[in-house]
Amino acid sequence: MGVNRTPLIAGNWKMNLDHLQAIAFVQKLAWTLKDAKHEDGSVEVAVFPPYTDLRAVQTLLDADKIAFALGAQDLSAHDSGAYTGEISGAFLSKLDCAYVIIGHSERRQYHAETDEVVAAKVQAALRHGLVPVICVGETAEDLETHGASAVPVGQLEVALESVPADADIVVAYEPVWAIGSGQAATPEQAQDVCAKLRDVVAAKLGADAAERTRVLYGGSVKSGNIASFMREPDVDGALVGGASLLVDEFAAIIRYQK
Ligand code: PGA
Repeated sequence: MGVNRTPLIAGNWKMNLDHLQAIAFVQKLAWTLKDAKHEDGSVEVAVFPPYTDLRAVQTLLDADKIAFALGAQDLSAHDSGAYTGEISGAFLSKLDCAYVIIGHSERRQYHAETDEVVAAKVQAALRHGLVPVICVGETAEDLETHGASAVPVGQLEVALESVPADADIVVAYEPVWAIGSGQAATPEQAQDVCAKLRDVVAAKLGADAAERTRVLYGGSVKSGNIASFMREPDVDGALVGGASLLVDEFAAIIRYQK
């Protein structure tokens, strides 16, 4: 990865761990990682619990001075009003969320989120000072029909419409066929698409933004494969699902050695 980009290891808990389990998990993870390198800022760790856990986790991170960033798994494209069941970016900012995942393939697939909805949510995140973690990736079918990069590149182009050049964003390349399947992309495949996604950032937001933006790989990341991804120049971290729910495994991912 690039010399000036701090690696980001992000745990997407999906719909797992209630707020009591979340407290126990974060305490154990922080204990396991004491003296680890995230403490000196050389790796950034972020956790993305369900909405109902955010307040409990925020309070714990704050009280125990735990150096994990907090993020949400989604947000509303709207800021407030008659949108039953929705969560505003304003609420997430108030809970000290730094990040919000947008356009995860499970949102695209099960909640019919289009590229346009994703773009509107990116704008909502930026309005509230949240860093959007913009997820893109091809299905197995897309891979067969269009190759690996066409779909994620197209998704990112739409998501970055109207994003200002100085915006702080994170891009996550997650091939849908690799998510939860145990079949990760190869480091070379990840590098190839992540480099193309960085080119999209360069084309839309400029060279400076492309140099500073972190591009993550996600999809069956484990302690056994993280180092191979992190050796690639355009992979700046990982978005981890299943393995982020296991304290020792997630800690081992955070402690990867190139
Ligand atoms: P996985 O999920 O690590 O369980 O494959 C990744 C994700 O969906 O972000």
